[in-house]
Amino acid sequence: MSSILVIEDDPAVRDALERGLAERGCTAFTAATGIAGLEAVLGERPDLVLLDLGLPDVDGMTVIGMIRAASAVPIIVITAADDDPTMVRALDAGADDYVLKPFRLDQVTARIRAVLRRTRRAGSSEPIRVGELLIHQATRTATLAGDRLTLARREFDLLLALAERVGEVVSKRTLLAEVWQQADGGSDRTVDVHLSWLRRKLGETAAEPRYLESVRGVGIRLVDPTAEDHRRSS
Ligand code: CA
Repeated sequence: MSSILVIEDDPAVRDALERGLAERGCTAFTAATGIAGLEAVLGERPDLVLLDLGLPDVDGMTVIGMIRAASAVPIIVITAADDDPTMVRALDAGADDYVLKPFRLDQVTARIRAVLRRTRRAGSSEPIRVGELLIHQATRTATLAGDRLTLARREFDLLLALAERVGEVVSKRTLLAEVWQQADGGSDRTVDVHLSWLRRKLGETAAEPRYLESVRGVGIRLVDPTAEDHRRSS
């Protein structure tokens, strides 16, 4: 479970984020000003900060700098300003990503997961093991029963996105957002095509899946077919 600090002066947005994050299994803390937010960064030691750039007391860019002076916590900036200079300044100041207002909560949580994964991955060289499948993030390679798989970039990204949530059904929309960076306008077909390529490389088919289970109308999950307690429900 991740702890998220929300620094936002608009009570409606703040409450919506706090409630929504809690519903999605995060622990959410809130602060209404830049100074209170900085104190919370130091006091609560959150896993990630969601920072509104338009705060009443301190300019958002300054808040980023103050947080960065004290902590390496990932920061996602929330801004109503849909302009490149603001984004570039925020990223240059030390933010990791940004979300534009108005936003949907699932966009925000997808960004949070992506940023947390990126920052955690950067600090870890441990491969992910799922049955006989071994996925090395650091070298972007994967082996199946010791044999190196030849995966194209998107195939590897797709496998990694599923492996990071092994056993969990991941929606095609989430995969489009994270692997292809196209949450809206992306086609499920893109995911299906890469999935079938990935299946072929894993030596399985949609009719007889082993690692990659499609859950109709919901998404895909990576499972360990060698696990004793694994029973396919469909
Ligand atoms: Ca504001």
